[in-house]
Amino acid sequence: MVNYIIITGGVVSGLGKGITTASIGKILQLHGYNVTAMKIDPYINYDAGTLRPTEHGEVWVTEDGGEIDQDLGHYERFLDISIPKYHNITTGQVFNAVIEKERNGKYLGKTVQPIPHVTDVIKQRIKRPAKEAKYDFVLVEIGGTVGDYENVLFLEAVRQMKQEGERVVFVHVTYVPVLDALGEAKTKPTQHSVKLLREIGIQPDFIITRSEKTLDNVRREKIAMFCNVHEDDVISNEDVDNVYAVSLLFEKQDFCRKILRKLNLRKDRNNLASWEKFIKKIRRLKNPVTIGIVGKYFDIGTSQLSDSYISVIEAVKHAAWNNNMKPDIKWIDSKIFEKDERKLKELEKLDGIIVPGGFGLSGVEGKIATISYAREHNIPYLGLCLGMQLAVVEYARNVCGMKGANTAEVDKKTPYPVIDFIPEQVKVIRESRYGATMRLGAYPALLKKGSAIQELYGKNKVFERHRHRYEVNPEFVGELEEKGLIFSGKSPDGILMEFMELPGHPYFVGTQAHPEFKSRPLKPAPLFHGLIRAAVKR
Ligand code: GLN
Repeated sequence: MVNYIIITGGVVSGLGKGITTASIGKILQLHGYNVTAMKIDPYINYDAGTLRPTEHGEVWVTEDGGEIDQDLGHYERFLDISIPKYHNITTGQVFNAVIEKERNGKYLGKTVQPIPHVTDVIKQRIKRPAKEAKYDFVLVEIGGTVGDYENVLFLEAVRQMKQEGERVVFVHVTYVPVLDALGEAKTKPTQHSVKLLREIGIQPDFIITRSEKTLDNVRREKIAMFCNVHEDDVISNEDVDNVYAVSLLFEKQDFCRKILRKLNLRKDRNNLASWEKFIKKIRRLKNPVTIGIVGKYFDIGTSQLSDSYISVIEAVKHAAWNNNMKPDIKWIDSKIFEKDERKLKELEKLDGIIVPGGFGLSGVEGKIATISYAREHNIPYLGLCLGMQLAVVEYARNVCGMKGANTAEVDKKTPYPVIDFIPEQVKVIRESRYGATMRLGAYPALLKKGSAIQELYGKNKVFERHRHRYEVNPEFVGELEEKGLIFSGKSPDGILMEFMELPGHPYFVGTQAHPEFKSRPLKPAPLFHGLIRAAVKR
């Protein structure tokens, strides 16, 4: 029988509930259970596809082409599983389904109401994974904070699930602040947050306290008393040096067994050794490898920085660890090179450069200048999606002599549109159909025998995830190749250029895909591995 773990949040947003959820999943998995996870996003957007990365962080792309909240990325990375798009539920999707049903006359004349009609749809969706595959545990993270208007129907739905006899464990994640003036950890916000949850009819089974330092016994007792839980069921989740170590912190507090006991589950195969070994290893690494990420989604202050490119960052880390190096990531806003070209010299300090994916005009020339510098100064370079497109633009302009070459996304009138719309996209944009209409999800590519990229993947056919509207214009492929650029991976029909490389350069590689989405802590993505390997040599 399937068991549900419902994760809610209290006090403040940004507690790292996604990491907490993924880490609970990890310990259950390491104890021998088959686990998957879902994310509920209470916003009205149908999916995350139309959201700017500085709003909610990176848009995560699933194998089946979903554009989803970045938390699904944490689940996939921690659990090393592939999660389909229907594991993300938004208010937009739920209301859309209810209204469609109403318009089709399926409610047979009834008044359609939030309870039970909306909550019924929510419950059906939460139960779908367990209907499609056999899971011991489905973790359901409810976005937002208890007390918000927008997640109340989702909380009501999970309350009903327990009432109706589903096997449900409620985990509430809260924040325990330390007031500077007093130097004392305060539990009152947690008490109030649990009070709100209980008003809705949910009594948490566990309370996870996020804090800088380990929760002491005095506060633990207080939280237990005021929140109606056992002291042992208050789990401290203090800051740790590495997100992948949170699961070990939970293990130390016997969290997994406590969950199993609540559900009367007996199977307990402890497989933690390899994960512990991995954490121990990465903690010991000392030699730094410095990778610069030249992007532009930095606009709302440093705290959002890492979120916009989270999968790229994690992929760099995985590859660095695998090469026994300590990752040192530098943030570079490409616009600084547009204001002052002399700043390009600073790239010299880097061991490797990445230009990640992106949309729109701003910062593009700075990225092209970066790529030019990397190519001419033999700095290892990896271009991801836009990063590959701009590498092609740079090569066209500076090596093939196509003055004014550009991507049509930036300059519609360029004499050399070396990057142009994928043909189907022209109609999509004319009709303003922006949601879920890019080329999305995993597509196959055939790799050129003997190319550097084929050597890195170790196979001839690969599947990577995509999210783009533009592609290398087939009209220019011949000329680019004549001048030395190699398109080392193409779609099976040979039309779309999926991978490129430049022979003679230590590492000048680009892909139209986003290999960062498939990188895992113990299985780095091949192209990131290649970048780090070249960076170490440098
Ligand atoms: N804006 C480019 C396109 O749509 C690149 C997209 C990306 O980098 N993901 O093709």
